[in-house]
Amino acid sequence: MIFIRVLASGSSGNCYYVSDGKTVILLDAGIPFKKIQERCGFHTSSIAAVLITHRHGDHAKAVPELLRRGIKVFSNHDVCALFPEIKIAKAGVPYGIGTFAFRAFECQHDVECYGYLIESQITGERLLYFTDTAYIKYRFHSINYIMAEANYSFDALANNAKTSKLPYFVSERVLQTHMSIDTLLAFLQANDLRGVKEIYLLHLSNANSDAVDFKRRVEEETGAAVYVF
Ligand SMILES: [Zn+2]
Ligand SMILES: [Zn+2]
Repeated sequence: MIFIRVLASGSSGNCYYVSDGKTVILLDAGIPFKKIQERCGFHTSSIAAVLITHRHGDHAKAVPELLRRGIKVFSNHDVCALFPEIKIAKAGVPYGIGTFAFRAFECQHDVECYGYLIESQITGERLLYFTDTAYIKYRFHSINYIMAEANYSFDALANNAKTSKLPYFVSERVLQTHMSIDTLLAFLQANDLRGVKEIYLLHLSNANSDAVDFKRRVEEETGAAVYVF
């Protein structure tokens, strides 16, 4: 099976450790490298590559240090404009990292942003990862693990905007650039989830989300084991 460990999640930093027992990769690196070392038990030398979704600091903070240490980093053209030493992954094209193969796909954020579909050649399993996206325009099949943003609920956001807890322009930006639990549930309904074992709900907004409610709704919809971060 694929082993997933959340090293950090949320607007203060995102970093996810993924291993199939043979190859280790990180998804995003939005915390200081020192923290990655601590939370990996100082096993960073085993990291084969890091896949970055987009340039924002809560996803890309450790990129300079990763590159300095000779760790391979993949992302899109926009991130490459910031860090020319990274490798560009073209959307839809398969790439290999040890025993993993991955493809990037386009997300909907305020900068160029990728999601990743990752497959282990050892376990034969597929993992889908996306975050910081208003919606996903693609459909997937034969997925076993989903790591997805569930940033806010429409009701909580609307209520916070109405009671002025959240400035209007902020709620407007959240709506256009992040995924609500409502949109995520619609995405899950539209995909074949028969093989899904685990779902990780990521990047929750403290002010506009309810972890217990989100977990219950996704469990009811999918029957998978659901973890919230
Ligand atoms: Zn983010
Ligand atoms: Zn972002």
